Amino acid sequence: MPELRKDPIVGRWVIISTERSKRPRDYDISKMMTKEGGFCPFCRGNEGATPPEVFAYREDGSGPNSEGWSLRVIPNKFPALRIEGELDREGVGVYDKMSGIGAHEVIIESPDHEKTMADLTEVEMERVMLAYKDRIKDLMQDQRLRYVLVFKNQGAAAGASLEHTHSQLIALPIIPRTVSEELGGTLAYYKLKERCIFFDIIRQESKDGSRVVLENEHFIVICPYAPRFPFEMWVLPKAHYSNYEQCGKEEYSSLARIMSLTLKKLDTALNGPPYNFILHTSPINTDEETKYYHWHFEIMPTLTKVAGFEWGTGFYINHTPPEDAAEYLRSID
Ligand SMILES: [Zn+2]
Ligand SMILES: [Zn+2]
Ligand SMILES: [Zn+2]
Repeated sequence: MPELRKDPIVGRWVIISTERSKRPRDYDISKMMTKEGGFCPFCRGNEGATPPEVFAYREDGSGPNSEGWSLRVIPNKFPALRIEGELDREGVGVYDKMSGIGAHEVIIESPDHEKTMADLTEVEMERVMLAYKDRIKDLMQDQRLRYVLVFKNQGAAAGASLEHTHSQLIALPIIPRTVSEELGGTLAYYKLKERCIFFDIIRQESKDGSRVVLENEHFIVICPYAPRFPFEMWVLPKAHYSNYEQCGKEEYSSLARIMSLTLKKLDTALNGPPYNFILHTSPINTDEETKYYHWHFEIMPTLTKVAGFEWGTGFYINHTPPEDAAEYLRSID
């Protein structure tokens, strides 16, 4: 059973995963990525090689775990957290721990092994965006869970262990610290001005234009004012929504269009770089209303390594000003 442990000084939780307990020699980074030619459990026809699917978009008449799917969601074979069991909280002297209850799922974005997410058609991309929504809505039913984090690791340097295009989701029994910090900041602004800070940022960036990468009817993509990483981008809905799953049908197709364009631009600009993206949305199953929060994607190309100074300070050194990054990204068709 995995375990959640809390650092008593800064309150940061870590997942101690016992599923794949690793010895020093298991961390050989030179053979972490399976290259072309190997067996791929995410490919069409290999459905039996994965845990049974929890969700799929399928042709009429095709049964679960058979061919005929266009998108599949499966539990991670080596989950960081487990859905079965009791949510136990326990104190061990000065320390706090909790049983590792949660969900860890893989969203296989296409049956086609050759495609990257940037290569997906708009229809395929829309399925991915809708699958995120459907999985969040389903996991919200579980009262033990407080947060669903959707994320993607593209490329070995960004942490992907299989090259077939996929994203992941981890549902947690606690609100992660990064999200708490954003919630705290947005709440403070809301108390002061009675406005959503993201809404004000969108209005200012749209008017100013220097950090805007793309814009359509429902969404804007910007390089944020204080980015941690070169070419970091945020994708923001223009209308105020605190929760990802609250958007309307038309907005998800609009989101798919702008995500496709954004990832294509990134691929062209930086020659198919490794990247991570994360979906930040409001916590689930809390009594607190989070009308001051505004869901968004953060896209972070992995061009530099987080090193000593960043680990020691929480500061980031970024050698590409966001205005330059946005100008360059805008210039790419
Ligand atoms: Zn494959
Ligand atoms: Zn807002
Ligand atoms: Zn965020």
